[in-house]
Amino acid sequence: MSGVPAPAVLYGAQELRAFRASLSIAKRPVVFVPTMGDLHAGHLSLVRHAADLGPVIVSIFVNPTQFGEGEDFDRYPRNLEVDRARLATLGVAAIFAPAADEIYNEEAATWVDVDALRGRLCDAHRPGHFRGVTTVVTKLFNLVQPDVAVFGQKDAQQCLVLYRMVRDLHLPIEMVVAPTVRDDDGLALSSRNRFLSSSDRRRALGLSRALRRGVQALAEGVQSTAEIEQAMAEVLVGEDVDYLDLRSLPRLDHEPVVADHVVLAGAMRISGTRLIDNISLRRVGDRFDPAPLIPAADVNEVADRLRERGTFAVLSDPPG
Ligand code: AMP
Repeated sequence: MSGVPAPAVLYGAQELRAFRASLSIAKRPVVFVPTMGDLHAGHLSLVRHAADLGPVIVSIFVNPTQFGEGEDFDRYPRNLEVDRARLATLGVAAIFAPAADEIYNEEAATWVDVDALRGRLCDAHRPGHFRGVTTVVTKLFNLVQPDVAVFGQKDAQQCLVLYRMVRDLHLPIEMVVAPTVRDDDGLALSSRNRFLSSSDRRRALGLSRALRRGVQALAEGVQSTAEIEQAMAEVLVGEDVDYLDLRSLPRLDHEPVVADHVVLAGAMRISGTRLIDNISLRRVGDRFDPAPLIPAADVNEVADRLRERGTFAVLSDPPG
C-alpha cells in the first residue's frame, strides 16, 4: 500500500454527526459520494471528482428498500475492508458504513417519492426502486449534511430523479454528475459485472455497442426516434432487453422526432444479471455532441457556484 492511512469508518449516526461538525470548522464544502460498496474504478472516479472540491465522505450501504422482490439484494457483493483499502490512496475523510437498523428503525414509515419520470425506463421494470433510492439518499443527506453530492451518469434516471428531488425539496446541495467509466472494450463498469461469465461478458458488450449504433444513426442525420431505436435493437436481437430507447431530456419523453437534448438508454438481462447503460447528447447545429444529463452539474461549474456563494474555500483553488 501507499502508506496513506485508510479512512476512518463511522458506523453510527451520532459518530457521523460529530465528525461532520468537525469538518465545518474548515469552511470547505463537504462532498458526499453515496455508494453501495464493492468499489470499482467508476466509484473511484466519483471520489476523485469529489476530492477536487473539498473533504469527502463516502457512504457504503446496500440499501434494502431499493431492491425488489427476487432481485439480487442477498448476493450483492459486500467487501468493506477491500473498499476501505481502495479509498486509502484518495484522501477520503471518512467512510459512513451504517447497519440497516441505523438507517431504518423498525417503525420507519416515511418515504420520499418523486412524482416524475414515473413508468419510464427503469421505473417500468423495477417498481418502487426509485422510491427506495430517493428515501435512502434523503436520509443520508440529512445525516451527512453535504454541500455537494456526486453521482455517476451510469445511473442516468437516478440522477434525473435525484436532481428533481433536490430542487423540489429545496435541498441546499449542489449535484455533480460524473461521466460513466468503462472498460477498454466499452462495457460500463458495474458491481454486477462480476456475476458475468466470460461468454456473458461478451454478450454484455452488445449494450454499449447498441448505444453507439444509436449515436451513429444520429450522426448520419436520422430524425425518426423509431428508426434509431430499430437500429439499436438490431444489435441486441435475441437478447433479453428491458428497454433500448431514445428519450428526450429532462423528462424522458418518447418523442417521434428526435429532440435537441436526448439520452440513448438501455437495460438488459444476462443470466439473471441486469445491466444498464446510457449516452446523453445535445444537438449542436446539424450534429449531436456528448452533453451532460442535467444543467451545470460539471465539477468546475459547481466549484464556481460554491465560490460565488463566498462561504467556502474550494480545495482545488490555487493558494493565495
Ligand atoms: P452504486 O454503488 O451502484 O449504488 O453506485 C454508486 C455511485 O457510483 C452512483 O452514483 C453510480 O451512478 C456511480 N457509478 C456506478 N458505476 C459507475 C461507472 N461505471 N461510472 C461512473 N459512475 C458509476
